[in-house]
Amino acid sequence: MTGKIVINEELCKGCLLCINACPQKLIVAAEEINSKGYHPAEFVDPKEACTGCTLCALICPEVAIEVFSKEKT
Ligand code: SF4
Ligand code: SF4
Repeated sequence: MTGKIVINEELCKGCLLCINACPQKLIVAAEEINSKGYHPAEFVDPKEACTGCTLCALICPEVAIEVFSKEKT
């Protein structure tokens, strides 16, 4: 199973909880700031290591993360 996430940058408050929650270390703080002045979380997964475990989405207090998973082909 592989996965991917989509982070709603405008909902993100830059709390970093998802960054610490991801077992694969696939989330970083963006250099840019969003319209509220926060550095939003950014998904970086060049090796497609995301498992779709949903830990990042479950911990996000702003419900800013959507998780999509797909079977490996
Ligand atoms: S779904 Fe799991 S592996 Fe994928 S980014 Fe979120 S915490 Fe990391
Ligand atoms: S847990 Fe949610 S609000 Fe916090 S940095 Fe991650 S996406 Fe942003």
